[in-house]
Amino acid sequence: MGAKRALVNGAGGFIGSHLAVRLKEEGFWVRGVDLKRPEFSDTACDEFIVGDLRDPNVVRDAVDGIDDVYQLAADMGGAGYIFTGEHDACVMHNSALINLNTVELGRLAGVKRYFYSSSACIYPEHNQLDADNPDCEESSAYPAAPDSEYGWEKLFSERLYLAHMRNYGLEVHIARFHNIFGPQGTWDGGREKAPAAMCRKVAETPDGGSIEIWGDGDQTRSFLYIDECLEGVRRLMESDFMGPVNIGSDEMVTINDLARLAMEAAGKDLTLDHIDGPLGVRGRNSHNDLIGERLGWRPEAPLREGMFTTYAWIAEQVAAAAATAGAK
Ligand code: NAD
Repeated sequence: MGAKRALVNGAGGFIGSHLAVRLKEEGFWVRGVDLKRPEFSDTACDEFIVGDLRDPNVVRDAVDGIDDVYQLAADMGGAGYIFTGEHDACVMHNSALINLNTVELGRLAGVKRYFYSSSACIYPEHNQLDADNPDCEESSAYPAAPDSEYGWEKLFSERLYLAHMRNYGLEVHIARFHNIFGPQGTWDGGREKAPAAMCRKVAETPDGGSIEIWGDGDQTRSFLYIDECLEGVRRLMESDFMGPVNIGSDEMVTINDLARLAMEAAGKDLTLDHIDGPLGVRGRNSHNDLIGERLGWRPEAPLREGMFTTYAWIAEQVAAAAATAGAK
């Protein structure tokens, strides 16, 4: 019997490109699909289709001969992309089409196993108003009240995959990711998330200067390093547990703390300049009892380690970009 064949939708993106590496290391044959190839590395995929998953013809080619689908493609970005409202229609339309095509055309092609990447953004806003005590237990998702259209689309698509599981006997595994970060993620241009944005701002600012922080910086979040995210995905996919389950860190920090970690990694002392900006919920943390119970595993790597590694990579990118600009 040949290697198992995996499809990674979104293989040109941050998590998808890392996932392709991991699946190759585990002996899978991997096909990737994305609008673009990975920005910061060569793809690890055996075959890479540059194509639009909103197009059923692209999806038909993508799912052909596949055993396992990892559906990570989405129209998304950080708070500056999701919470301004400017991209709401595209986010909902594009991501819903990708999911509708993937599950239906995958089913028709005989694909039995699916991983779907949902998000902590599905949790109700009213449970996340207290920065010190956010409730993101899986069962708190309903009655639903996400604070963004991005979250509503994720919730719709969770239900879409679960409905296909019930009606067509597909095996579906769903994770709700909480702020995944690490090297080779978007670090500028408006779609970057908080850890990358902090690292970039610190790397670009001379010692003694100041960096801008959206809001008062007391809003809380947790951030999971990419390697632990992939470990969770693979464990979930190989288990008999369908989820939805949180894959996130439960080491909650304020955004000000996150900025200070980036400064520590850089060995710089900067002041924080708090300005108006898109914020999202007041507090969010991963609730990890269910994953611990069902998979016998939970993420444990300290945020500090991941931030130091990520800072080193982003500082290199900033230096390279400055050198290129200087040469022009
Ligand atoms: P990413 O933006 O780096 O990757 C998503 C990829 O999907 C991109 O490369 C993009 O080009 C591709 N894509 C978008 N529209 C497409 C289309 N029509 N056809 C083909 N490809 C298309 O994001 P990521 O951080 O790697 O996230 C992967 C998944 O995990 C997403 O579904 C995201 O919503 C989910 N998620 C991520 C986080 C996080 O912190 N990174 C948190 C929660 C959920």
